[in-house]
Amino acid sequence: MALDIEKLEKIIRLEMADNYQDHKVYRGLAAFIHNWTRDAITRHLTLPEKELVEKVADNLTDYARMSVLERARAIQEVLDLTAGSKSANGNGNGGTPAVRTLDPIPTRPVSAPPNPPPLSSSASPAKPAVWPDQRPSAIVRQSVRVVAPDPETPAPARQPAPANTPAAVVDLGAKLTTVKGIGETYAKLLSFAGLNTIHDVLYYFPFRHEDFSSFKKINALMYGQTESVVAQVLETVTKRTYGGKEMIEVTVADDTGRLSCIFFNRRMTYGLKTGSQVVLSGRVDEWNGRICFKAPSYEAADRELTSTGRLVPVYSTSGPLKLATLRKLIKTVVDRYAAALPEHLPAAIRERHHLVPLAQAVKDYHFPASLAVREKARQRLAFDEFFLVQLGVLLKRHEWQEERPGIPFEINQSLLEAWKDALQFKVTSFDPETKEPLEEMRKLELTGAQQRAIADILGDIQKDRPMNRLLQGDVGSGKTVVGATALLMAVANGFQGALMAPTQILAEQHFQGLSRLFEKLEESEYFQKLGLKVRLELLTGNVRKKEPVYRRIRDGEVDIIIGTSAVIEEVVEFHRLGLVIIDEQHRFGVRQRKALRGKGANSASNAEGANPHLLVMTATPIPRTLNLTVYGDLDLSLMNEMPPGREPIQTKWVMPPERNGAYKFIRKQINEGRQAFIICPLVEESDKIEAKAAIEEHDRLQREVFPDLKLALLHGRMKPAEKDLVMHQFRERQYDILVATSVIEVGIDIPNATVIMIEGADRFGLSQLHQFRGRVGRGQGKSYCLLLAGEELSQVGSERLRAIEKTNDGFELAEIDLQMRGPGEFFGTRQSGVPDLKVAGINDVNILEAARAEAIQLFEQDPGLKEVPHQLLSTKVARLWSLEGDLS
Ligand code: ADP
Ligand code: MG
Repeated sequence: MALDIEKLEKIIRLEMADNYQDHKVYRGLAAFIHNWTRDAITRHLTLPEKELVEKVADNLTDYARMSVLERARAIQEVLDLTAGSKSANGNGNGGTPAVRTLDPIPTRPVSAPPNPPPLSSSASPAKPAVWPDQRPSAIVRQSVRVVAPDPETPAPARQPAPANTPAAVVDLGAKLTTVKGIGETYAKLLSFAGLNTIHDVLYYFPFRHEDFSSFKKINALMYGQTESVVAQVLETVTKRTYGGKEMIEVTVADDTGRLSCIFFNRRMTYGLKTGSQVVLSGRVDEWNGRICFKAPSYEAADRELTSTGRLVPVYSTSGPLKLATLRKLIKTVVDRYAAALPEHLPAAIRERHHLVPLAQAVKDYHFPASLAVREKARQRLAFDEFFLVQLGVLLKRHEWQEERPGIPFEINQSLLEAWKDALQFKVTSFDPETKEPLEEMRKLELTGAQQRAIADILGDIQKDRPMNRLLQGDVGSGKTVVGATALLMAVANGFQGALMAPTQILAEQHFQGLSRLFEKLEESEYFQKLGLKVRLELLTGNVRKKEPVYRRIRDGEVDIIIGTSAVIEEVVEFHRLGLVIIDEQHRFGVRQRKALRGKGANSASNAEGANPHLLVMTATPIPRTLNLTVYGDLDLSLMNEMPPGREPIQTKWVMPPERNGAYKFIRKQINEGRQAFIICPLVEESDKIEAKAAIEEHDRLQREVFPDLKLALLHGRMKPAEKDLVMHQFRERQYDILVATSVIEVGIDIPNATVIMIEGADRFGLSQLHQFRGRVGRGQGKSYCLLLAGEELSQVGSERLRAIEKTNDGFELAEIDLQMRGPGEFFGTRQSGVPDLKVAGINDVNILEAARAEAIQLFEQDPGLKEVPHQLLSTKVARLWSLEGDLS
């Protein structure tokens, strides 16, 4: 069943006729929308329909609270959407009210869109998209040739856009100075924004559009709103303000009234010639009790509007490049060269998902004619991003799994049982009278989630393809034991295992924890019968006498190597590396992952060149959209269950006046035998200043607040050995409170610590706060997280604190974080070597899944993307991942 657009429109028109008073619709328009939406989602909707419904709801659910003007805008937006959906259907009103797609373009040959923009009008049906007859010879690095190569013809220089004329060669990788209208000066300005080639500019997308599309009559202007009018210039008068400043008043008029436009710079009025017809856009201001425009942007009404009168793209600029200039330059380039972008998506895929051609999408995403058109363009580009990322991911996986064999391990069930039997964890309780801590080792029963993860892993490592798995479980879910199980299997099969942790402290902790686990195992009857021993070695960047360690690793005298990135240093040579585990993956880059895997093939006695199995562990819950992009090459095991006996951590945002109360609370916990963390605020300038701040805070707390307690200090400038010592002593309860910088962010496991106080909490990201909070609540007993923030809190800062106060669910927090920060920043994707998503957003799950499915299918047809028609795609993927030819 399809959507009832007609009903929606009918109600909307009723409301418009009623001047947006929200009286005409029973219980208000929002109530109607609510019902309409609910009704809609019970139907079997197509993807564009679903999106339409979402957008309608987005626009109108707040209707009751909107001003009349906001209502008018929201309604206009909805009408745009529904109109867009109808033209997509190829029928006007009447007929079927159904909407099948938002595509404003009827499904016919893609190279001839309706309402052709001036540029593509020259694209004749005789010149289809380059796909799929693109020949590899036509692709030379960045330059993409359209149709027949003709080295004689340089980049097109005439307007309008001869790019489409047959035989033209458009080198999209060409310097911007080759573009007519862009000289050295502009090219230099553009290079400040990182734009050096034509291709750069085409893909430099606006982050939003200003909506000037609805012109107003002068008598309908509303104070405070951003509006556009078409008017005639009547006169220009120079005045003086009370302060004596020169002020130029330009009066314009339309058939409904007059409007003053105030400028404080004569030069800004030069385009406003008396008698001329102009489009003015700006915020409606007030002067001398009348509404006016102050320094509006304007443009002659007859020229094609770039900066006014429509959806105006807003680009991020910095440095000396003005937005208006940038916009104009981009328009020049887009108008002339967008059409030359070769299509890399197979036509079948485009048709299946109603995707507009690339050239058109790029053009429309810069300068859309309507919101519906913009959305269509966005969908195409978002699809591209996901598709290319997925292909890259598949290629890497292919490279990894197909080109070299893996090592099939045998799983010794008796050993596995013995191991499970030997697993223990530490529980601390307190003598109710003496308050003395009573430590006891208890048998560890694996949680269901742990068992499932172990089963996944054991399944993988028995195959002759290398395991490639991501173990994702919230902080404290018990990933270490799972990883240790895999390590044990590697050792039992006569191979070495490596465990890489992001920090020294964490590596140290893993070393101790695993040593304890394996010691217990060695005491077991079964193990003693085998006469086996698991030899662990800690390898960090600071091992003085590294040489002998290297030798032992090389000679196979070490079974499990635990360390920081020191493990992947060139000099480290393994004897027989069979398994690699990377803990807290988000801290490592893709390159490091690759380097460590590469170690397997280079093992001393690995003649076959087999790849080791790989297990990646992370506590960072990644929203699905990102998960598939960032970790798309990994199989996923989710641990969504906490070990029993954990109580949720109680989080409280403490107001500055309550600070002393917070200290009292910490003291109370310590009196009960517990320990506490106090995290110093993030100092961005440098490690050194941060360390200094931490030292001062530690001294202050020790002197003024907790003179009778033992306070330890931990910061990033301490030597690794010092850090280890402090952590060790804290774990051994020689201190009550650990004052630390963000160095303790991940992984630290001190079950006896039950309270963490985070200073300057508003400065940390949500995921980071969640990680900090995960330092407590790891043992029996209730734990607390106290958040302190500065007096002047940013909007975002307080939103974050409210969010973390409300939920303990890392996944939910990650979603919120992502909403607030955008994917790039959220994950530091650039850093981790994964392409950034520029257009796609986290809500594009549907597009992602479509793109992923297509990528997988395409890859099945042509693993490695080696076939000729896929050359362009393969080049694109390689460029996106910027793996310097690694993939091509
Ligand atoms: P993370 O997933 O954050 O790396 P860890 O592996 O450090 O978590 O485990 C957190 C704590 O939970 C450790 O003290 C560990 O001994 C304990 N633990 C792990 N699994 C269980 C279990 N099944 N039952 C009880 N405690 C467990
Ligand atoms: Mg961990």
